[in-house]
Amino acid sequence: MLKVSLLNYTPNPERTVALAMRQSHAKGSVAEMDLSDEEVERLINLAWKRRHMSVFEHATFSFTIEGISRSCSHQLVRHRFFSFTQQSQRYVELTNGSAFVTPTSITVNAEAEQVYNEALQNIYNAYQKLLDLKIPEEDARFLLPNATETKLVATANARELIHFFSLRSANDAQWEIRQLAEAMLAVVTPLAPHIFRSDYFLNEKDML
Ligand SMILES: Cc1cc2nc3c(=O)[nH]c(=O)nc-3n(C[C@H](O)[C@H](O)[C@H](O)COP(=O)(O)OP(=O)(O)OC[C@H]3O[C@@H](n4cnc5c(N)ncnc54)[C@H](O)[C@@H]3O)c2cc1C
Repeated sequence: MLKVSLLNYTPNPERTVALAMRQSHAKGSVAEMDLSDEEVERLINLAWKRRHMSVFEHATFSFTIEGISRSCSHQLVRHRFFSFTQQSQRYVELTNGSAFVTPTSITVNAEAEQVYNEALQNIYNAYQKLLDLKIPEEDARFLLPNATETKLVATANARELIHFFSLRSANDAQWEIRQLAEAMLAVVTPLAPHIFRSDYFLNEKDML
């Protein structure tokens, strides 16, 4: 099952972004500058209005992601300004049980689900048989399908996250990465509601 948690993030992400915004017009350093909550909100809204997007790069978020398929992680890792560390199929042996993701279109169709589960079981049995024959994990994994579950740590700054959410929370995004993007957005929004303004980025796809 999909699970997203926040591993770490820039302390005071909105204040950090607001201070970066403030620096662009401040004569002195913003190092000791104190901003009220209202000023933080005003500066972030101004950055959005002017599309001064680089200021959003100063707040970074690290997520743990589990329960997604290798199909989904393949789409995720196309986003080049993220940093990723993914569970290795060379070092971690696949175990039976919750090792595969099943799309809902299949779980609601009993006959399709039977075909799917039998195919996955056959693949899993063949994988185990190769390991029993002392074939290393790095070679046995060639059998594994897109449905195989994976885990990652993913880190990105708010600018890249905004871009990711704009593409992957959209209605035309594929269902699994859309669920992932929505789960990640739900985690960061309470921490930085003025940065992650879906009313801005869902209406305008490319703001980078
Ligand atoms: C609905 C949908 C369908 C898709 N279908 C396919 C498909 O059929 N086949 C396929 O291969 N991919 C597909 N993709 C993936 C897509 O092509 C991108 O690889 C992926 O969405 C990452 O987007 P990005 O490059 O904008 O993002 P990032 O890699 O996160 O980059 C962010 C932004 O930085 C800039 N940037 C980054 N690198 C460069 C560069 N080298 N040169 C210039 N600017 C750069 C761009 O402005 C880019 O938007 C699909 C994506 C979506 C959302």
